[in-house]
Amino acid sequence: MNIAVCVKQIPDPATPYELDDENHWVIRPNDQVLDDTDRVGVEVGLQLAEATDGTVTLFSMSPSGSLQGIRQALAMGADKAVIIDDDTLKGSDALATAQILSAAIERAGFDLVIAGTESTDGYSGIVPQMMSEILDVPCLSFARKVDATDDGVTIERQTTSGYEAVSSPLPALLAVTAGAVEPRYPTFKGIMQAKSKPVDMLTASDLGVELHAGQKVVSVTDISARAAGEIVEDDGEAYLKIVELLEQAKVI
Ligand SMILES: Cc1cc2nc3c(=O)[nH]c(=O)nc-3n(C[C@H](O)[C@H](O)[C@H](O)COP(=O)(O)OP(=O)(O)OC[C@H]3O[C@@H](n4cnc5c(N)ncnc54)[C@H](O)[C@@H]3O)c2cc1C
Repeated sequence: MNIAVCVKQIPDPATPYELDDENHWVIRPNDQVLDDTDRVGVEVGLQLAEATDGTVTLFSMSPSGSLQGIRQALAMGADKAVIIDDDTLKGSDALATAQILSAAIERAGFDLVIAGTESTDGYSGIVPQMMSEILDVPCLSFARKVDATDDGVTIERQTTSGYEAVSSPLPALLAVTAGAVEPRYPTFKGIMQAKSKPVDMLTASDLGVELHAGQKVVSVTDISARAAGEIVEDDGEAYLKIVELLEQAKVI
């Protein structure tokens, strides 16, 4: 099975994000890490490739920098990577991202596309659905368990009360949830091999995509600090105060 896994490189979530003053875009350091959400997608892709004698190709659109995040995914076992990095893509929104990733995936050919449900830095959670529309394949979202053969894929789709069993023929697209599988840790051998795995670098014009007009971030405001709470001393009748506050909040 020819498996395409979408992976996003993001600034290390352990460090505070900074925005540039002019466009309010996240300032992206040279060393970005693999989004944790996408480690799950890579693991699902590797398990399906192992079961079907398939291949895993990573697709990523971002300032490539040192490729640290991509090498992390290659070290887990992915076969190769395609990176789309182009200054004209700065400030891309979800639709432009979906257009570019879909064009790169279509050009390479695929049986199954795997993405995370929601990225950690942008988290619009709509890129996978947009890609399925552009690629004209079924979208199996919120996948918490995945089984696939060379003919089709079946998932458990997480719902608020349990799960739905959803099946689709291939080609198809999956968006996996964070708990779908436990991502493997790269081995030392995997880390060494990752250094020589093929990484194709593309620009938007290589893909011939006509991008839509895109978004502009007009302003960014800090979340207001939470006000200090009120402390009620219990003199034996604090319950009356609690009832009064619940009535004010229209809870009772
Ligand atoms: C030069 C350049 C600068 C950029 N600057 C920013 C920035 O400042 N802030 C920002 O958030 N984004 C930036 N991006 C990336 C892009 O604009 C976002 O990825 C996009 O808006 C997706 O939104 P999301 O993260 O909300 O996707 P979601 O829908 O939340 O992501 C769901 C899943 O889709 C896949 N996916 C999403 N985006 C990508 C991607 N780029 N590559 C591969 N897979 C992906 C992943 O599997 C992810 O788990 C930049 C890209 C380029 C090329």
